[in-house]
Amino acid sequence: MRILIACDMEGITGVTRWEHCEPDHAEYTRFRKLMTADVNAVIEGALDAGADEIFVADGHHSGQNLLIEELDERAVYNAGTSSPWSMMNGIDGQIDAVLFVGYHAKAGSAGAILAHTWSNDVFDLRINGQSHGEFGLNTLIAGYFSVPAIFVSGDQMIAQEATAFVPGIETAVVKQANGYFSGSCLPPEQTQRLLTESARTAVRNFSQSSAPKPVKSTGPVDIAVEFTHPHMAETAARMPGAERRSGRSVGITCQDLPQAFLAFRTLCNLGK
Ligand SMILES: [Zn+2]
Repeated sequence: MRILIACDMEGITGVTRWEHCEPDHAEYTRFRKLMTADVNAVIEGALDAGADEIFVADGHHSGQNLLIEELDERAVYNAGTSSPWSMMNGIDGQIDAVLFVGYHAKAGSAGAILAHTWSNDVFDLRINGQSHGEFGLNTLIAGYFSVPAIFVSGDQMIAQEATAFVPGIETAVVKQANGYFSGSCLPPEQTQRLLTESARTAVRNFSQSSAPKPVKSTGPVDIAVEFTHPHMAETAARMPGAERRSGRSVGITCQDLPQAFLAFRTLCNLGK
């Protein structure tokens, strides 16, 4: 059984502020250590439940956050940018299931810690008309390869968002968000136990065929990015094939999910 652990930083144990996740800030040193500990706890649970191979995709910032010298030696670390699948670095048809660690709610979510989608320039992302955050987008990428998303950790708001899109997904809530910059955070010793137990349950359920199924999108995929400011939409709309759909939004219909994902990344790059 081959498992991909896709991790981000905003939903890691104790994270409540951007400074915790910014490499040029002194606080970052503490939180990348906690991020590594959260991931190790999930690796432990996945291996307990029968996983044979573990790949860890580092999806925050430039993908260099985990401390490889402290990472569980039984995992392979997929680090750095730019990789074809970005936050899902390593996804392919050989992976059996994906576990999301340290995820956060989508842009605009009320009462969710550091809620955003991809960057703070994105007001909303719509895929075939449905609003998604990074969890939804990356779950669809996994689904393209017929791989299910079976676990997510973060605050209670990403747990709700994930459950709404993937009913039955195993969730580990490491902090209760009280606002954008505040939460009631469980200490690492507690969250590590929780993460190991939940990951074990998720992988065990998967191996017993009782985990969620892959979320597949078939046919053309329409991507619409609503930016926070019209000037971003103005420059993003220069992408061939894209159209300005409103003052702040640009959209494009692509032949499949990989093309739509490339279009999304390109629109974000052009629009910033
Ligand atoms: Zn992040």
